[in-house]
Amino acid sequence: MRVVISADMEGATGVTWPDDCEPGNPAWQRCRALFTSDVNAAVAGFFDGGASSVLVNEAHSTMRNLLLEDLDPRAEMLTGRHKDLTMVEGVQHPDVSGVAFVGYHTGAGAEGVLAHTYLGNSITGVRVDGVPASEGYLNSLVAAEFGVPVTLVTGDDLTCRDAATYAPDAVTAAVKDCVSRYAAVCRPPAVTFELIRAAAERAAALCVRAEPVTDRTFEVEVEFDATHLAAATAAVPTVRRTDVRRVAFTADSAYAMIRTFKTVTTVAAAAVENTYG
Ligand SMILES: [Zn+2]
Repeated sequence: MRVVISADMEGATGVTWPDDCEPGNPAWQRCRALFTSDVNAAVAGFFDGGASSVLVNEAHSTMRNLLLEDLDPRAEMLTGRHKDLTMVEGVQHPDVSGVAFVGYHTGAGAEGVLAHTYLGNSITGVRVDGVPASEGYLNSLVAAEFGVPVTLVTGDDLTCRDAATYAPDAVTAAVKDCVSRYAAVCRPPAVTFELIRAAAERAAALCVRAEPVTDRTFEVEVEFDATHLAAATAAVPTVRRTDVRRVAFTADSAYAMIRTFKTVTTVAAAAVENTYG
């Protein structure tokens, strides 16, 4: 049984503030160890549940956050950016039985610690076929296209609740309870390690490949906090402006959906100006 762990940082133990997960900050240096501990807990749980191999795919920011020297030696780690499936790179390999979302968070415009979708700000909402979609939601569609179920989700309590919208059978582990977007009641790593390890051990039983979902099309709508971002991103092929601050596109596969969405976010980020956004 081969498992992929998609590891994001905003939902890691103790992370509640932008500096905690902004590469280069002293707070980020400290939180890298907490993040690595969460990932190691998931690795341990999956091996306890019968996994034969685990690939950890870094999924946050520059995708260079985890401490390889402290990683459980049974796992392998994919570090760095520019990957075909970005946050869920690895699920395309035919021997993968399940994927875990560790350190995830709620989507743009939703309540939750460090809630956002791809961009830290600028995007105020993403909908797929009219349904609010977090990063977990989007990535679950990509995994489903390859027949890989989401079996474990960790993050704050609201992220665990959000998981029910895209992976109702997944096991969840809340490492903190949201108080505001920048505040949470946090459980210490000694506690969250065991929480995540136990959850991953149960999740291992759900790692069974499903029939690939290949017959869907996706209507994606992205809302920004300013009009010029809609104007800029409407230049992306297939993307059309649907309102002053909104664009939309239709994709005939989850693979096309996530690639177009990533392109939209890249163009939007390049169009953001200092102070005025
Ligand atoms: Zn992130």
